[in-house]
Amino acid sequence: MIPVRGYEGAKVAVLGLGRSGLATARALQAGGALPLLWDDSPEARDKAAAEGFALTDLTRNGAFEGVACLVTSPGIPHLYPQPNKVIARALDEGIPVDNDIGLFFRSFATPDWDDFETTPRVICVTGSNGKSTTTALIHHILQVAGRPTQMAGNIGKGVLSIDPPQDGEVIVLELSSYQTDLARHLTPDVAVFTNLSPDHLDRHGGMGGYFAAKRRLFAEGGPDRAVIGVDEVEGRFLAGQLAEGPGDDRVIRISSGQKLEGFGWSVFARKGFLTEWRKGRQVAAIDLRSVPGLPGAHNHQNACAAYAATRSLGIAPKLIEGALHSFAGLPHRSQLVGEKDGIRFINDSKATNVDSAAKALQAFPRIRWIAGGLGKEGGIAALAPFLGSVTKAYLIGHSARDFALQLGATPHEICETMERAVARAAAEAEPGEVVLLAPAAASFDQYPNFEKRGDDFAARVRALIG
Ligand code: ADP
Repeated sequence: MIPVRGYEGAKVAVLGLGRSGLATARALQAGGALPLLWDDSPEARDKAAAEGFALTDLTRNGAFEGVACLVTSPGIPHLYPQPNKVIARALDEGIPVDNDIGLFFRSFATPDWDDFETTPRVICVTGSNGKSTTTALIHHILQVAGRPTQMAGNIGKGVLSIDPPQDGEVIVLELSSYQTDLARHLTPDVAVFTNLSPDHLDRHGGMGGYFAAKRRLFAEGGPDRAVIGVDEVEGRFLAGQLAEGPGDDRVIRISSGQKLEGFGWSVFARKGFLTEWRKGRQVAAIDLRSVPGLPGAHNHQNACAAYAATRSLGIAPKLIEGALHSFAGLPHRSQLVGEKDGIRFINDSKATNVDSAAKALQAFPRIRWIAGGLGKEGGIAALAPFLGSVTKAYLIGHSARDFALQLGATPHEICETMERAVARAAAEAEPGEVVLLAPAAASFDQYPNFEKRGDDFAARVRALIG
């Protein structure tokens, strides 16, 4: 745990008692603060009480008397579409509002570091897509390099639950836009921006607010290095704003698809090859085509981001190349479940919308595609340009018939259940093809969440292929 510093003896209100809220309360207590806990949900309050925490109704008049700060959870709206009523009250009364990420950055460095040979560093990853994959990949490369490292944030544990860092340790944090929007301290050593596409717009008051929230990771503390995906105009704007000029190598530009040769430092992937350029010359190249855990151009973008972040810590290209090959991938994201008779079975259950399903459909040349579930508005109409790689679709769940109508000439079959879809796809697949679960739909019609759906797919595949 990282005890929270700077609030010794002070009352700190904590709103939201999920995983990160409870971890925050413990870390505040360990640092000598007096946490006042509240959650709008009675179940969450009961859980906190069972841990021995006292609860304070923060919705009551006068609840903020003598309170130094309000710490909130990422799921709770703090501004748009409208602030939660407890947050609104804190704003009315001029109480600073922060989150666990802000508390982490103000508490992370300690006097023990004076004895360290190498100061601990923090790498933060944000962006619309690929955050978890990039974060896990950076963590994996550091492990292979033998560097002490921990991973936290939006992935794994809450930031305040990590162990105090050792000499030379690198902490890798995945941060969502909700988290970067609110944190009062945000001072990573290396900050990564993968890409930007519309998401969570209701919480940010539109695309401008969404981009502004992510930008804070770069603007607040001024990281030593900024790794920036420049495949959208927002990334190019950010890179241009942070650098003194194209030759400034504090900014490492990354791309999936574009050649970036005219910059101080860049890493890009084209046609399956990753290339690093520094000050006008190529310094390294890696063939990504045979890297099993990172299929497709979207994962090559993630590979570029992780490569750039770890190169900026001085890790050698050869070592990173080996680590890319041993990266197993994250569960439910382009995850190779098994292979038999030249047929690969891939679980991308996290592809719950058409954007991520489109990436998956572009990652493989010949696909037996398992899709469907609780479809989103518009169904799969937007996937029409990407159906060229689909040999046949096997449709499941609530949206199966709607999806069938939108598939047009693409061969398809209504299977209803995962069991039948896997069995039919496996029976018809030919060597060289991929059986891909990329539903383009939510899972809630048949499963509690996308993880359970992916687990079901994997279990049925394993039962079939042994
Ligand atoms: P995040 O943590 O940002 O949600 P993940 O790594 O969990 O990202 O991937 C989520 C989904 O998005 C997966 O289905 C994956 O196939 C797709 N995806 C992963 N990386 C990228 C990327 N760089 N660009 C677009 N889509 C991606």
